[in-house]
Formats: sequence, structure tokens, C-alpha cells
Amino acid sequence: MLKNRVRLIREVLDDTKEAIGDTCAVAIRFGVEELKGPTGLTFDGEGREVVELLADLPDLWDVNVSGWPNDSATSRFEAEGFQDSYTSFVKQVTNKPVVGVGRYTSPDTMVSLIKNGQLDLIGAARPSIADPFLPNKIDEGRVEDIRECIGCNMCVTGDFLSTPMRCTQNPTMAEEWRRGWHPEKIAKARSDETVLIVGGGPAGLEAARALGQRGHGVTLAEAGTETGGRVAIESRLPGLSQWRRVADYRQYQISQMANVEVFYDSRLTAEQVLEFGADHVVLATGSKWARHGIGRHNHDPIPTSDAAVVLTPDEIAGGTVADGPVVVFDDDHYYMGGVLAEKLRLQGLDVTYVTPLSDVSHWTHNTMEQANIQTRLMELGVKIVPLQNLAYIQSDHVELTCIYTGTKQTLACKSLVMVTMREAEDTLYHALTANPQNGPKTVTRIGDCLAPGTIAAAVYSGHRYARELGEPASEGVPFRRELIALSPD
Ligand code: ADP
Ligand code: SF4
Repeated sequence: MLKNRVRLIREVLDDTKEAIGDTCAVAIRFGVEELKGPTGLTFDGEGREVVELLADLPDLWDVNVSGWPNDSATSRFEAEGFQDSYTSFVKQVTNKPVVGVGRYTSPDTMVSLIKNGQLDLIGAARPSIADPFLPNKIDEGRVEDIRECIGCNMCVTGDFLSTPMRCTQNPTMAEEWRRGWHPEKIAKARSDETVLIVGGGPAGLEAARALGQRGHGVTLAEAGTETGGRVAIESRLPGLSQWRRVADYRQYQISQMANVEVFYDSRLTAEQVLEFGADHVVLATGSKWARHGIGRHNHDPIPTSDAAVVLTPDEIAGGTVADGPVVVFDDDHYYMGGVLAEKLRLQGLDVTYVTPLSDVSHWTHNTMEQANIQTRLMELGVKIVPLQNLAYIQSDHVELTCIYTGTKQTLACKSLVMVTMREAEDTLYHALTANPQNGPKTVTRIGDCLAPGTIAAAVYSGHRYARELGEPASEGVPFRRELIALSPD
């Protein structure tokens, strides 16, 4: 069996080399199906033997414990270098160069792997999406300028949704040709107009960074004592610490710009904004999770008794202590419901996760995390109740209805965590635009204040605002489209 596999691989390699010439590198990737378990090829059994037998036959080894969800694991589930223990033997049995992957994002780790001879080349797809100039920045000793990948897999979602690729850290991703956005360069400002940005979350920080790069005089006012907004809060949830990089990168860049000033503890009112007198005002005041229960499955508030305790994700993530038993009702379906159930269970509470969909954190199929999330919750002892809607919240129980039959059931519940929708914090925007006389030249909403969405969307929104300020409005669709040339016949 093994000999047959090796013979086949040899034949394929010889044919490929003949077809494309000896100078081309050939990579072999062992799929997870071959490597998986004792009946397959294990890295310390037959897998290793195959690599030893082929040794110097390929021009290059690209080793990877594959299956895409494994190859591109998220930072919530795998640490940097998580494939090392499976692939580090390869260098010992071949003289040919070896490429390895494993969510390497830190330049220090990359350099040390090369220096200690574990790998010859680092396979870094996502880190290069987050920062296409990563190798140049390492080469130039500008490591603090690297936009380090946060391992969220937003970039992967486009494959499943047939939408343009997006990256949480790099808003120019997939817009290089379509909008002409260079990942590092941006047009200089056409005027010396000043900008006041209210709110220092991902949207406000990216707008400040990119406007600062363009040369505008920028003031950023943040109500809290730190920047980062939702990222600062969410990065304290289990497994999400690397998300903090979205704020850290921008905060550092801004700190290097003499034309950008940041004020903390500055919750601005409409009067203060007007008094400040900036030419342009940007509202990046974010959003808050709603308590009423309106969401994908419920278009009216969920009936709730006065004595019931209903908590929001902002409160739980911000440190509010819930009383158990807790029910997390997830009608949002991205990461928040699942990660809050995990947090509450880790606090020792009796937690039940209820969703109208068929599985936990359903949208995370698109980030290839769903199986990991559901497994983790099950292993922690979170009870999972799928296909149920929330009908009524009482002080000591909730009433659920089956989404198909309407059959009712009750669950003990002292605290209900409502994960359904976020609402824009746009009061300041409306106060400023109610009476436009004598106000700034423009007042604009960006990020979650305009449309609550993903962190990637907030960063993108801030970046787009900065690119477009003072630029002529585009005609037609605001980006280039492919033109299909038809032949005359
Ligand atoms: P986004 O994802 O759109 O960047 P966030 O919710 O992450 O939004 O961040 C919004 C930020 O705006 C928070 O840090 C919040 O403290 C700040 N903020 C909200 N209202 C005000 C205000 N009136 N003045 C200053 N900062 C504000
Ligand atoms: Fe990294 Fe997230 Fe960007 Fe993908 S979307 S490259 S995982 S930061």
C-alpha cells in the first residue's frame, strides 16, 4: 500500500517535471484524509516514511496538515505555530527546501524558524492578505508598521458567500484594482481642512490613521479611557485576544503622526462638537446590543415580565455578573452568542444556549469555525437547544416554541442574555444634522454608527471615508467593473 502510494507520487512528480521543466519547484501536500488517524498516514508513522522515501525527489516540500479549516485555523482555536509538532521532522529527512504553515503572523517567530533551521520558507497567506508589504517591512526593519493578521477568517467568508474578499486588518484588500486603493499609499489631501472624529473604535481609528496619512489635521475624541471601542471589549472574551491588534496597529501609527491628536475621557455633546469648529465632523460612535429581542426571527419585542433579568452582550462582555441558570438566546448567529456562552460557562454558571437555527453560531460556517465552537461548548457542558424561538421571558424561566411545530417548552432561567441585533448610536449625528446652519461643512456617519456590522466593515467604512474626503464624486458605480468584450460573431 505504502509502496504503491510512493510509486504513484514518484510517477506524478517525474511527469510534472518533464512537462514543466526541471527548474520548477514541485510541492506535495498531504491531505488530512491521508494523514488522519491510525488508518491513514500519520505524521510519525507512514506519513514520515513517505517523506523519507521521497526525500530529495521534489524540488521543494510544502508541508501542511491540511483540510482547509485545519490549514487556516483561527486564532480563537489555534496558537501560532500549531502545525510545528507535525511537520518539523521534514527538514531532518530532506536536503530540499521546506515551506511550512501554521498561522505564523509574528515576524520574530518567522525569523527564528528560519534561523533555527526548522523551515526554509514561511507560508503566510493570511498574514500577507493583512499586510502585503510584510516581507518588505521585515527587510527594512519596520516591524512596528506591520498590520498583523488577527486570525479571524473574515477573508475566507467570501469563498462561501460569493462576495468580494474582505480583510479585517487591511481595508484595501480586493480593492486594489476595483477602487485603485494601494495598501500603503494614499493620495495627499487637496486642502488643509480639519476633521473632528467622534469615537475611537475600529472605524474612527482607521479614519484618523488614513486621514492623518493624507495630511489632514485630525482630532479624535473618545469617550472612554482607551481606544478600540468594541475591539477593546471583545478582545477580552475567551480566545479573541488577538483581535486587539486592530486597535494596536492604528493607535501606534497615529501616535507617530504630528497632525493627529487623540483625546480620551471626552464624551462630546452636539454643542461641544459645534464649538470645536472643525471643517468636517465624522461620527464613529458605534452601536449597542439591543435588549428587546427583535432580530432575524422576531420582528416585535419579545414579551418580558417586569421582574425578568435581561442582559445584553455589552453588559456581559463588560463584566456584569449574571445569576444562573443563564439562557443565551442567539438570533445573531455570528460569534457573539457562542463566545458569551463559553465565557459564562467558564465562570461556573449553568448555561443553556438557545437558537432558532440548527446549530451554534451558524454564520461561523463561513469562517470555518462552527464545528470547533459547537465542540467546545459541548465539551464545556453548555446545554444546546436548537430550532427554538424565544416566546416569553419570566423571572425564573423562559418559554420556547419549536420553529416548525410551535410546540412549547419551558427552561429554568434567572438571567437571559439577548444576542439578537445591534442598534446604531446615532443620537449625536441626528442632533448635529437637525439644524445644519452654521455647522461644519459636512457631518458624516461611519462604521457601526451608520450600519452595525462586522469589525471588517467598520474599518473599511473609516478607510473609505478618508480616501474620499475632498475627492471629486465618482460618476456611476463608485468602482471599476470588468467589461466583457463580446466578439462580433
Ligand atoms: P465602530 O466599530 O464603528 O468603530 P465602536 O462601537 O467600536 O464602533 O466604537 C465606538 C466608540 O465611540 C466607542 O469607543 C465609544 O466609547 C465612542 N463614543 C460613543 N459616543 C461618543 C461620544 N459622544 N463622544 C466620544 N466618543 C464616543
Ligand atoms: Fe487575517 Fe482576518 Fe485579515 Fe484574514 S481577514 S487576513 S484572518 S486579519
